[in-house]
Amino acid sequence: MTQLLLATRNAGKLAELQRLLATAVPGVEVLGLRDVPEYPEAPETGATFEENALLKAREAVRYTGLPAVADDSGITVDALNGMPGILSARWSGRHGDDPANTALLLGQLADVPDERRGAAFVCAAAMVTPAGEERVLRAEWRGVVVREPRGANGFGYDPVFVPEGLTRTSAELEPAEKDAISHRGQAFAALLPVIDEVLAAR
Ligand code: IMP
Repeated sequence: MTQLLLATRNAGKLAELQRLLATAVPGVEVLGLRDVPEYPEAPETGATFEENALLKAREAVRYTGLPAVADDSGITVDALNGMPGILSARWSGRHGDDPANTALLLGQLADVPDERRGAAFVCAAAMVTPAGEERVLRAEWRGVVVREPRGANGFGYDPVFVPEGLTRTSAELEPAEKDAISHRGQAFAALLPVIDEVLAAR
């Protein structure tokens, strides 16, 4: 069976891609980072989501010799000229401190009126093969940043993001409901034919 490595430690992302691939590209076994020998995590030094996704996928190929998929994501806020962007995970200064990141963002937007609170979650998904083939694509999920966190699902900025066309925050959506429309869901869905094509050409 052809193996594909999803270079993430996030069990949710892994399960999602495994589910999507099982139906769309049968005969591919999707491994996570827990299934391969541990290697050092490269710092995310890219200037764009696309570059960071490619960096993570290249590292995974270099250490494992397997074709690899990686993603990079964040929230871009219109009133902050696109920030936090690629710095979303460390916006408050501590990597992965979701409550502190969200509180800082809400403070920065305190005086921004409702009609200028537009934002988008962005996800870049990259695939790299041992032969050096590289693909990357990007998906966006637009919405607004609300003033008070709501909801207990999801992670990161989900409690303060209301997707376009909805009234609930993305932390109030069921996981499958979010997967079907989110930036990451869209990016992974768009990556399926690319994975199929690249693996078939090996
Ligand atoms: P990374 O893609 O693992 O580097 O994470 C980027 C950061 O962006 C996360 O730590 C979150 O703060 C934020 N982020 C990315 N996707 C989402 C999402 O679906 N919901 C909420 N926050 C997100």
